[in-house]
Amino acid sequence: MFVYMDHTATTPTSPEVLKAMMPYFSENFGNPSSVYSFSRKSRAAIEKARGQVAAALNADPSEIFFTGSGTEADNWALKGTLEKAKIAGKNHLITTQIEHHAILHTAEYLKKVEGVEVTYLPVDAEGFVSVEDVKNAITDKTALVSIMFANNEVGTIEPVAEIGALCREKKIPFHTDAVQAAAHLDIDVKAMNIDMLSMSAHKMYGPKGVGALYLRKGLRPENFVHGGAQEKGRRASTENIAGIVGFGEAMEIFKSRLEEDKKINSARRDKLIAGLLQKIPHAKLNGPELSKGDKRLPNNINFSFIGVEGETLLLDLDAKGISASTGSACSSESLDPSHVLLALGLKHEMAHGSLRFTLGRLTTDEQIDYVLEVLPEIVARRREMSPLWEEYLKSR
Ligand SMILES: *Cc1c(COP(=O)(O)O)cnc(C)c1O
Repeated sequence: MFVYMDHTATTPTSPEVLKAMMPYFSENFGNPSSVYSFSRKSRAAIEKARGQVAAALNADPSEIFFTGSGTEADNWALKGTLEKAKIAGKNHLITTQIEHHAILHTAEYLKKVEGVEVTYLPVDAEGFVSVEDVKNAITDKTALVSIMFANNEVGTIEPVAEIGALCREKKIPFHTDAVQAAAHLDIDVKAMNIDMLSMSAHKMYGPKGVGALYLRKGLRPENFVHGGAQEKGRRASTENIAGIVGFGEAMEIFKSRLEEDKKINSARRDKLIAGLLQKIPHAKLNGPELSKGDKRLPNNINFSFIGVEGETLLLDLDAKGISASTGSACSSESLDPSHVLLALGLKHEMAHGSLRFTLGRLTTDEQIDYVLEVLPEIVARRREMSPLWEEYLKSR
C-alpha cells in the first residue's frame, strides 16, 4: 500500500487544476505585458486568477500580488515593511518562536544586516501565542507584527482575529503566514483585520513555485523583486501564467469543498490520534489537546514516542509504504531537534522522537486503519532495542 501522509510538505496538483494550466504553457504563451491583442488572453487569465484568490479571502483583487512562492511572500512582507519603516525611525519586529523558517531566517537576516530588533514571542505547551504577550511587546518602535495563522508542525491555530484587532487598534501592520491555514480554513482578511497574508499554491493542490501576498489597500512595503512593471510595479518579472492560473483554480476548488474536507479530515485525524493514544503506551500528542480539535489544523497529527527517534520511525514506516515526516520538511536534512517542539517545552530527546502525519485528498479510511495497525508494532519493536526506553522505564 502507498500511503502519503505528508500533505503539509506538499500536495499533488489536482487534475482539474493541471487541465486549466495546460493551454498557458503552449497555445496561450503570450507575454501579458505586450500590447498586441494575442497577449490579452494571458493578461485576462492572470486577472481571473487574481479574482479567484481574492474572493476566497474576502479581499479585493487589487490587493492580491502573485509571487514565486510562499517563502517569497514572507520575505517581501518582512523585508519590505521593515525597510520602509526605517525611514520613519521604526526598527522593531514582533514574531514568534514557532514560525516557519521563511519567517525566522528572514527575521535573523534583518537583525544581522539592518539592525532590526526582533522579539520572538514564546508559546504555551500547546503552541498558542498569548494576545497579552503581543500587546506587551509593542513599543513605539514596532514596525510589524508577524504571527503565523496555523503552525505547520503541530497544527496549532493562533488567535489571529484577536491579534488583528489589537494591531489595528495600535495602528501597527499585522502580517500572517497563512500558507497552511489557507489550505484548510476559512479566512476573511477584513473581518480578521489582517493587513498582509502569505499563501502558497502547492500546499493546496496547486503547482509548486507560485504564491501570493495579500496587501491591504494603502499599504506599500518596499519592493522585494526589482525590475519590470509587472504586478502594478510592485513585483517584477514575467508572470508565471500557468502557475498563477493553477493557483486561482486550486483556490476556487478548495473554497468549494472547504467545509466537507474539514469534516472528513478532522474525523480521520481524531480517529488516528485517539487510536494511537490508546494503542501506544507513553505516547505524547504534540500541539493542541484532542478535545481542542477546532484549534488544530484539521489534517495534523504530531506525536512523540519516548525512547525512539522520529527518524528511525520514518524509515520503518517507509518500509511499510507510509510517507510521513518528523515535522518540517525543510529541516529534515539537519539533525537538530525541531525549534517548534523545543518552544513547546519538550526535552531534546522528545523533540527528536516526533512524528507527523498530515492528511489530505489522498487519504482513505483504510489508510488510517493501516497506520493504526503498523505503527504500534514498529514503536514496540524499536523500544525493545532502545537503551533510552530502558532508562525511562527504570526512572519511573
Ligand atoms: C510551506 C510553507 C512555507 C513556504 O512556502 P513555499 O511556497 O514552499 O515557499 C511557508 N510557511 C509555511 C507555514 C509553510 O508551511
